[in-house]
Amino acid sequence: MSLGSVNPGTFPRPHLILIGVLTLLMTAFAVDQFSDDEGDRFNTETVLLELPGADAAAASPTAQPSALPAALPGDDATTRLAARGPAPLAIDAAQGSAAAALLDAADPTDLVGATRAPALPAPRLNVEQIQVRRGDNLSVIFKRQGLPARDIHYLLASEPLGRRLKNIFPGHSLTFSRAEDGTLVKLAYTPGPLETLEFERVGDDFVGRELRQEPRRTRAYKHGVIDHSLFIASQRAGLSDNVTMRLAQIFQWDIDFVLDIRQGDEFHVVFEELYVGDEFIGHGDILAAEFVNRGESYRAIRYADSHGRADYYNPEGDSMRKAFLRAPVEFSRISSNFNLRRIHPLFKRNMPHRGIDYAAPTGTPILAAGDGRVVTASRTKPNGNFVVIQHGEQFTTKYLHMSKFGRGIKSGVKVKQGQVIGYVGATGWASGPHLHYEFLVNGVHQNPRTVELPDAEPIPRTELARFNERAAPLLTLLDDFKQQVQLAYGG
Ligand SMILES: [Zn+2]
Repeated sequence: MSLGSVNPGTFPRPHLILIGVLTLLMTAFAVDQFSDDEGDRFNTETVLLELPGADAAAASPTAQPSALPAALPGDDATTRLAARGPAPLAIDAAQGSAAAALLDAADPTDLVGATRAPALPAPRLNVEQIQVRRGDNLSVIFKRQGLPARDIHYLLASEPLGRRLKNIFPGHSLTFSRAEDGTLVKLAYTPGPLETLEFERVGDDFVGRELRQEPRRTRAYKHGVIDHSLFIASQRAGLSDNVTMRLAQIFQWDIDFVLDIRQGDEFHVVFEELYVGDEFIGHGDILAAEFVNRGESYRAIRYADSHGRADYYNPEGDSMRKAFLRAPVEFSRISSNFNLRRIHPLFKRNMPHRGIDYAAPTGTPILAAGDGRVVTASRTKPNGNFVVIQHGEQFTTKYLHMSKFGRGIKSGVKVKQGQVIGYVGATGWASGPHLHYEFLVNGVHQNPRTVELPDAEPIPRTELARFNERAAPLLTLLDDFKQQVQLAYGG
């Protein structure tokens, strides 16, 4: 594979936010929120409710935020909250009414409990909307509704949408429209505020169709000045935890949010807010952002390429990412540095330390530093459970002393940057739970903290004009907002 190819969408969690630093004084001054209503101008993609931080598992509403240690050293409720990762979008609350709005528009049938006038000639439908509960599946629900199991069979067999009914989750809604004799005439499934699947009976079969609603997008702007922690500054600025996490993820390659943040650092962020009607249903994407760290300014613009893949780039079109994570385990501390002249703590003799030890609780996820292929996932007496990943021709990374391997990790499998390949442990010659991490360039050990990391791929040349065309108005917008803040605060 080409070294630079980095999958957008697999942002590893930021090193972030943990900020073992707790409640310190801070003076984030905040922040006016500007919104405008021309939000669609720069947003033609249809991905609306993309969950951040997201591998497939994280995108599932039932997935636990698994990539975090159970307990963080020195944490408290506040930091734990911060560590918990992107909060799910606030769709639950909005769901019922949005769904109802959709149904109103699409389905002018009678309501439940409408008076039954015996003489009415037209067939009346009995409509009932239910919320999926914990432990529900279609069989349970249909039984509760007094509907025959064969209807489930026909619904699931409906191509191509029927299979989506297997994915119902608590909070989703189902709307049953029944004839007077109780026969199911139509089923509407509403997995979120923006989408409804309708299945209408034709004979025994059901014919499905998808109704989508575009949310209204508005742009919001926030500015904050940091005293000690980004997280606290963001809260003061009125930024949601979710957007803060994403902001930090964008800049994590250049800024270590635990070690590098200084008083006076500031951020500017332009992001989308999504509405159905007047109802706020969640945050859309961060469109543009600037982070000033120790006087140095970093700017990032979201760009979706002509294949629809979105990622963040600086104004010159270079990716904000690097091809490798600086550290493959989060929320850790370095317990032993790269040192070719070290006296080994167990064996009391000179044994070069050709890697870095990250102390972290047993079970802390270990992430693949870059895209690559697992060449070894094995166990030896000194290494314990260990994984070796080959990244293109030049680069190799090694991960030792794991308590266990990540799911599906074995020799030969491909891994993505940020994918969990194992968990911190103390197997092999280890005096306590830690990850021993090595970084090799052309077979030679380098210090992973200081080695120059290759960049991820820039905007392809063929896309550069298109990128510039889209980036320019976003940069202007960011500048305009900044100027308004400066005017408002007297510069
Ligand atoms: Zn070590």
